Amino acid sequence: MYPVSFEYHAPTSLDEALSMLERHGDEAKVLAGGQSLIPLMKLRFAAPHALVDINRIEGLDGLVEEDGQLRIGALVRHKTCERSELLRGRYGVLADAAPQISDPIVRNLGTVCGSLAHADPQGDWGSALLAIGAEVVARGPGGERTITLEDFFQGPFMTALEPTELIEEVRVPDPGARAGGTYLKLERRVGDFATVGVAVHVALDNGTIARAGIGLTGVGATNVKAVDAERALAGAEPNEEAIRGAARLAAEAAEPLDDVRGSAEYKRNVVRIFTERGLRTAVEAARAA
Ligand SMILES: Cc1cc2nc3c(=O)[nH]c(=O)nc-3n(C[C@H](O)[C@H](O)[C@H](O)COP(=O)(O)OP(=O)(O)OC[C@H]3O[C@@H](n4cnc5c(N)ncnc54)[C@H](O)[C@@H]3O)c2cc1C
Repeated sequence: MYPVSFEYHAPTSLDEALSMLERHGDEAKVLAGGQSLIPLMKLRFAAPHALVDINRIEGLDGLVEEDGQLRIGALVRHKTCERSELLRGRYGVLADAAPQISDPIVRNLGTVCGSLAHADPQGDWGSALLAIGAEVVARGPGGERTITLEDFFQGPFMTALEPTELIEEVRVPDPGARAGGTYLKLERRVGDFATVGVAVHVALDNGTIARAGIGLTGVGATNVKAVDAERALAGAEPNEEAIRGAARLAAEAAEPLDDVRGSAEYKRNVVRIFTERGLRTAVEAARAA
């Protein structure tokens, strides 16, 4: 099906893009990789009056470590993360998530920030970035504001972003010297959305866990941050008892539904097993960092 007709704008600066969003309010949509928005428009689940294509704005495609944090610009594609040397090691949860997103065609065009803005509870970036403690930098007519990812996701396909705002970048705090992580995804076939995904990030200090982050995909109304499991791990020795206890808490944080991909009980069990495996891998990676 063809989309409903719309105005197309291709601003070359952020200010221009913002003034277009302000002019059209909630009748406008930002267009980044188009990998989620265009299918929705073709199916007529979305019918924006105007598209504000940000692809011609320079300076939004930076993936850099700067001033003690990792910055992922609004036009950083999945494939850039997949190929980035920077993301291996301490940002391992991001490096592991990138190649598991869909197929090469989607990864060539789709963006990290577009994925967050789309807020699909089955999106992989949401969990990986929740685990590593990322924040969204939103820019609107009033300037810039920073939103933690936990506050950013408000429901399925709903975020804290105002219609007049766009995501300029995502920031990840310095994970410290001894950090590691991974992303485990169960999919029916390669390229599918997750039946269950578990993102794990661990930072060690003198051999104990200084900070742990766990994000869950496909088992809730949003990507889920397994807060109780994270708290149980903070300050703990990274041993089997702590890992198994945290995995049980992560499974309790999941709120999966029965569907064609599996029963709620099965998915909760996958969360537990993946969290155990992910934590072991993350701890090993952090020790080796
Ligand atoms: C066949 C297929 C399979 C897929 N499989 C997976 C998968 O396994 N895992 C996964 O995580 N994803 C998957 N996706 C989704 C894919 O990752 C999308 O690329 C991503 O969700 C959206 O990024 P985008 O840049 O294409 O955004 P767009 O489609 O351009 O936009 C999506 C939404 O975000 C908004 N938006 C985009 N950028 C910004 C911004 N900077 N500021 C404010 N709002 C913005 C748009 O207005 C729109 O509402 C799949 C998509 C397809 C088509």
